[in-house]
Amino acid sequence: MMQQTYTELLPPRRILLGPGPSMLDPRVLQALAQPPIGHLDPYLLKLYEEEQELLRIIFQTKNDWTFVLSGTGTAGMEAALANLLEPGDAVLVASHGYFGERLADIAGRLGALVDRIARPWGQIFSIEELEAALKRKQYKVFAIVHAETSTGAEQLHMAEIVSKAHQWGALVVLDTVTSLAGIEVRVDEWGVDLAYSASQKCLGAPSGLAPITVGPRARKAIERRQRPVSSFYLDFKLYAGYWNGNHSYHHTAPSGLHLAFREALRLAVEEGLEARFSRHREHAEALWDGLGSLLLPPFIPKEFRLPVLTTAILPGGLDEVAVRKRLLEEFDIEIAGGLGTLKGKVWRIGLMGYSSQRENVSLLLETLRTLLY
Ligand SMILES: *Cc1c(COP(=O)(O)O)cnc(C)c1O
Repeated sequence: MMQQTYTELLPPRRILLGPGPSMLDPRVLQALAQPPIGHLDPYLLKLYEEEQELLRIIFQTKNDWTFVLSGTGTAGMEAALANLLEPGDAVLVASHGYFGERLADIAGRLGALVDRIARPWGQIFSIEELEAALKRKQYKVFAIVHAETSTGAEQLHMAEIVSKAHQWGALVVLDTVTSLAGIEVRVDEWGVDLAYSASQKCLGAPSGLAPITVGPRARKAIERRQRPVSSFYLDFKLYAGYWNGNHSYHHTAPSGLHLAFREALRLAVEEGLEARFSRHREHAEALWDGLGSLLLPPFIPKEFRLPVLTTAILPGGLDEVAVRKRLLEEFDIEIAGGLGTLKGKVWRIGLMGYSSQRENVSLLLETLRTLLY
């Protein structure tokens, strides 16, 4: 029989300008190529301490329970809700896009009583409408997405919203998957009880890890649970035992991903948060200017438009799938189409982490000009 040959290790070199994953700094790539380390090796345990310190700087928190889950951003979503909610608990989910819908879906699967308040995709909530919803019932948890990657909108007024949720007795879960390390996220100052993110967006690491931070009120709620968390894998108490306690075995952590992730966190802190936010904003402004002159105007009004993810309105009659196919296959540039109600109507262009560079913006704009005109 003929010996089957499989694809050689020669992956395409893409310019990643979609909603994640973002590109990797050479230092992160190098970290990714190191040999494996055991999950109880003192080197890895020391590296965890550094990751925790660096993440506390980036989340702007003092939370002791700040650690990194094995799994993507969706594991962060599942973990946040699974640790706080028990069957029958009331939860309010504020949804202004695809990921808000996913939060409501996950909460429902956990057996929680889910109330959903929604805005049309591309809009954000006012403090008043959220307060009116929070008043209706005693909710255990209120969950909301900070940066909606499906629409490119930033939910503003987070400090006030968190304060209203607390006033009405709910713990606040905040999705910072697309915002963390790209725009301001102030966990302690805003009073957020539980926030999670993902490694592959503005943090600039490979996909596969989900950092989380748990504040004192959320910890107390977890300690008071009647039943153990339904997921063994995502149980924060077991994570805390491995990360903060006596490092007892929970699961075999992916050491290669942690090496790369720590390097990405180090790069972010070396750059400085303020400088990093300015860089993301500056390159986004250049993108918006260029898109305007290509007649692909941004979909979101400037006051709550995310610098890290831009949705551009497509002209009628454009075969957008064909253009994206040529961008990828002929020019090695990845951007994304719209999700859900925005499918076929917008493109989603990410400038996250290491991908947020002036030359990437110029390259994309020049290539689009060639393909469209
Ligand atoms: C990407 C994303 C997620 C899910 O993360 P995965 O890493 O794809 O599992 C959740 N929330 C938001 C806002 C996201 O952008």
